[in-house]
Amino acid sequence: MATGSNIPLDVPESQPADNNKLSTGSSELNGRQLSRTSSISLIKGSITSTSAVHELLECPVCTNSMYPPIHQCPNGHTLCSNCKLRVHNHCPTCRHELGNIRCLALEKVAESLELPCRYQDSGCSEIFPYYAKLKHELLCRFRPYNCPYAGAECLVTGDIPTLVAHLKNDHKVDMHDGCTFNHRYVKSNPHEVENATWMLTVFNCFGQHFCLHFEAFLLAMSPVYMAFLRFMGEDDEAKNFSYSLEVGGNVRKLIWQGVPRSIRDGHKKVRDSHDGLIIHRNMALFFSGGNRQELKLRVTGRIWKEQ
Ligand SMILES: [Zn+2]
Ligand SMILES: [Zn+2]
Ligand SMILES: [Zn+2]
Ligand SMILES: [Zn+2]
Repeated sequence: MATGSNIPLDVPESQPADNNKLSTGSSELNGRQLSRTSSISLIKGSITSTSAVHELLECPVCTNSMYPPIHQCPNGHTLCSNCKLRVHNHCPTCRHELGNIRCLALEKVAESLELPCRYQDSGCSEIFPYYAKLKHELLCRFRPYNCPYAGAECLVTGDIPTLVAHLKNDHKVDMHDGCTFNHRYVKSNPHEVENATWMLTVFNCFGQHFCLHFEAFLLAMSPVYMAFLRFMGEDDEAKNFSYSLEVGGNVRKLIWQGVPRSIRDGHKKVRDSHDGLIIHRNMALFFSGGNRQELKLRVTGRIWKEQ
């Protein structure tokens, strides 16, 4: 906000750091009689940030910006809550016993300071006061995604291109171009559902990536297989697509039509909501034909874009 603004209350970034006077008078608010010594201007309740304010809010110990709770010693030296835990109750500046004193005035300044979203480098251009920023960041569409791989808990996060490369290189996931699929799932000992089999295939179509999950698990004590699709992107974009899955054999078939779920929804969450094609094991073995000793499922499907 400080740069490129036409608001006459703005004070140049070069303002000396020792003039930390807050200008709160109503005369400043109407923009006519601003004292040029003030380094902070209050405009409709938000503070135009300057380097002086940032310096004021810099923790003297760790040099990070301080946010509530901000602590101070009886002599007025401030420090951030992280550092307070580390200094054994003694002010790092004057060695006085610290006690439990908050610096509410500085907390108010920190709260009203407008800050860029932490995912600015990923493309978010939003600016918020402190608490609104924290709230926004939990839901920011530029926040990194978790790895969609369902196996061992993978802690890798990133944007979609990063995760696509990660799935391919680190999880050795099959990658397919196109919007139709025809997959065979074969398992020789289908009675061991406890060792849950799962498979992930990634499809690249419509310039987007989709994860096709296939797995076995126990649903209310009875073994089932489930196939579902997740969209590598946000939920509002996922809704632009539909998909169908078909599985069958022995002149019978099951058809599922659904909407891919965003990978923002965890793999387990989608599975446990049963939002996909569910095949009970008896049915699956029936589709497989033979002597029920081997699982042989052929799942076909298609992804399309809704108009
Ligand atoms: Zn600190
Ligand atoms: Zn002190
Ligand atoms: Zn953001
Ligand atoms: Zn991973």
